[in-house]
Amino acid sequence: MVERDSLTTVGSRLADVRGRVEAAALSSGRDPASVRIVGVTKTVGRDAVDDAYQAGLRDFGENRVQDSVQKFSQPLPADAVLHLIGYLQTNKVRDAVALFDVVHSLDRIALADGLQHRAAVLGKTLTVLLQVNVAREEQKHGCAPDDTLTLLNHALTLPSLRVVGLMTIAPLVADPEAARPVFGDLRRLRDDLVAATGSALPELSMGMTNDFEVAIAEGATMVRIGRAIFA
Ligand SMILES: *Cc1c(COP(=O)(O)O)cnc(C)c1O
Repeated sequence: MVERDSLTTVGSRLADVRGRVEAAALSSGRDPASVRIVGVTKTVGRDAVDDAYQAGLRDFGENRVQDSVQKFSQPLPADAVLHLIGYLQTNKVRDAVALFDVVHSLDRIALADGLQHRAAVLGKTLTVLLQVNVAREEQKHGCAPDDTLTLLNHALTLPSLRVVGLMTIAPLVADPEAARPVFGDLRRLRDDLVAATGSALPELSMGMTNDFEVAIAEGATMVRIGRAIFA
């Protein structure tokens, strides 16, 4: 009964992660319901995705458009939400807008315009987060912190995009505490942008398997978790 076993495994890992998310929220005085788990399925096939859905997961994150088109050629049930969390090339915009509900990796004005164009063609409103390279790492994608207000102001003029917040990827470090300043900086940048534009930006997508508890303490509303659920 291999299928049953894998379902139990994904289900019990998900339950464990849920418990840790709740504990982290409660210990910083937050409502556990204010933190959404986005299960990152980029390393697993459709069977594991379906197991996770069976176990109650509703938010699924992928980082490559082409892989996702394959994996979700058979659509998930209507209450599932698909999140694109990886870098989005301009030539993948058409497929991305058709497939995904939420794009976490909006990091440049030309991409905002491309997403707007395709979303309008499909008559769809696309939920987006602005990806910020808070740690200013050379090799990382994401908008520079100083350019985020300009990108936000532009995105806010685009009628088919709904900007709900910011996303960042912390540098990979052994000690999750080392990522705390990055998460705090994203939250403070969000607060500054809300003050500057008057738009609500409730979502902070930050924290992965290694560091999600610290991210929750710093205000994460979406944690993107792969290995802890699907390894
Ligand atoms: C792979 C990935 C994750 C999940 O990382 P884990 O360490 O497996 O939890 C989160 N965010 C992004 C952008 C990723 O590419």
